[in-house]
Amino acid sequence: MVAEAPAPRLSDQRGVAITEEPAPVPATIPEPDWDHAVELIHGANRVLLCSHRKPDGDAIGSLLGLGWTLEAAGKHVTLACADAPANALATLPGAERIVQDLSPLYTVGEAPPWDLAIVMDASGLDRLGSIYENNRDLFAALPLIDVDHHITNDRFGIANVVDPTAASATEVLSLLIERLGLTPNVPAATCLMAGLMTDSLSFQTESTTPRSMRVAARLLEAGAPVAKLAFQLFRQRPRGSALLWSKALGTLQFAAGGRIGWLEVTRAAMDAAGPGADSGGLSGFAGSITGVDVGFVLEEGQDGNIYVSLRSATVDVARVASEFGGGGHVRAAGCHFAPPATIADARAQLLPAIERALG
Ligand code: 5GP
Ligand code: MN
Repeated sequence: MVAEAPAPRLSDQRGVAITEEPAPVPATIPEPDWDHAVELIHGANRVLLCSHRKPDGDAIGSLLGLGWTLEAAGKHVTLACADAPANALATLPGAERIVQDLSPLYTVGEAPPWDLAIVMDASGLDRLGSIYENNRDLFAALPLIDVDHHITNDRFGIANVVDPTAASATEVLSLLIERLGLTPNVPAATCLMAGLMTDSLSFQTESTTPRSMRVAARLLEAGAPVAKLAFQLFRQRPRGSALLWSKALGTLQFAAGGRIGWLEVTRAAMDAAGPGADSGGLSGFAGSITGVDVGFVLEEGQDGNIYVSLRSATVDVARVASEFGGGGHVRAAGCHFAPPATIADARAQLLPAIERALG
């Protein structure tokens, strides 16, 4: 008789023991915050919706998902993001409505044309980039709701609908929409689902809970086209991105005996790759290599900053990022180094910090 082999465990498959538990998260959203947010939204007519610079699927999904829902409820909405959605995100319904600059709509010192601002998927107002930097007085003047799921969120709203156990900001937003007594229409459900699918890597992250699945089920019932979204968001990539990957993978390096792996993306590589070049996914690739505990990407931004994207299945990278003024999630985080820092400077500062985090 042959003894049955034990089923392989995730830790065996990765070649590393996953022992470290994610950091404890605060209790869920206090009822008074829910109630206050619902009251503010019901009482508002002209709403400014904002999400973080260099937007990902959750940032764009949040803007558009709530935008469509509030518009269907008869409110006027402005959708703002410092950077335009790229590639597949630009094909989400309503993406062309997102503005990068508020100055045509609002003059500093004059009465704002909005009575409420809602900031989504951003752990702090600085994450809005130029939308915040050019309009600080506006954000001080408007009642502000903070809807987010980052563990590093600094509760900058007068109502903070922040749940670090949510898989995406759109998961939190879907619960908020329900509390408003509203049902997402098809474009809203599509965009909310896009946020949930991208931030949870199609329900593969530790942040995926039964509640995420229930929210997803309701979005499917509301008409979200899941197969079409999966194709556009995960399987299809622009030629420019494929060309960028072909360059970026050649920069792969390791440190700490293979426990750290990283890639470097220069401006020149970005420009040579051409239209559609997008570094999204590269840090996940670095983090997916057997033996690597922390994978990261250093990217020279158009604005001269060096952007860092960190991924780990074993180490709290939000803590590493926060040492450099950044933040994010335990498993996925980021920060940046301002000029005159170069890629080499960023690397020299990051590697020791990551090695300390490895313990
Ligand atoms: P990504 O690596 O995909 O750009 O970002 C991973 C996560 O970290 C996202 O949730 C993103 O919002 C967050 N993140 C990235 N860069 C920064 C940063 O400079 N500051 C903060 N607070 N969070 C960041
Ligand atoms: Mn998010």
